[in-house]
Amino acid sequence: MKTKKIGNKIIVRIDKGEEIVKSLLNICKEYNVTLGSIMGLGATNKVTIGLFDVDTKKYHSEKFTGNYEIAPLMGNITMMNEEPYLHLHINVCDASHHSFGGHLNKAVVSATFEAIIDLIDGQVTRVFDDETGLNLLEI
Ligand code: FE
Repeated sequence: MKTKKIGNKIIVRIDKGEEIVKSLLNICKEYNVTLGSIMGLGATNKVTIGLFDVDTKKYHSEKFTGNYEIAPLMGNITMMNEEPYLHLHINVCDASHHSFGGHLNKAVVSATFEAIIDLIDGQVTRVFDDETGLNLLEI
C-alpha cells in the first residue's frame, strides 16, 4: 500500500494480496481522516458483498472468488466511537462484463487498486437508528 497526500486529497495505491477495507481504515487512521469521500477502481479475486435486508435488519453477505474488475468502489468516511467509519459500496464486473455489487465487507486485490480520497475539513459522526437498524449520519 502506498499513499501520497496532495492538498485535500490522498492518492492511494493498494497492492496485490492486500485487503482493501482494512488498508483504507489504516490510511484513515494514519492521516486522521474524520470526514471525506472515496472513489476507487482496480481488480479483485476475492470479494465479500452484503445486502441489507430492511425487514430483518440484517446484512446477508456472500463471498465471490474469480477475476473481477472493481468498477467502481465508492463510499463515505465518517467517525463512530472515535474511530474512522467506512461506508463502502462496490460494483464488480466478471469475464462476461456483467456487473453486480452491494455493500462492501472485504476485497482482496488481485492486481492493483487505486483510489482518491477527498478530505473534508470537519467531522460527522454516526448514530445507531432503531427504526432502520443502521448507523445513520448524525447531521
Ligand atoms: Fe451500505
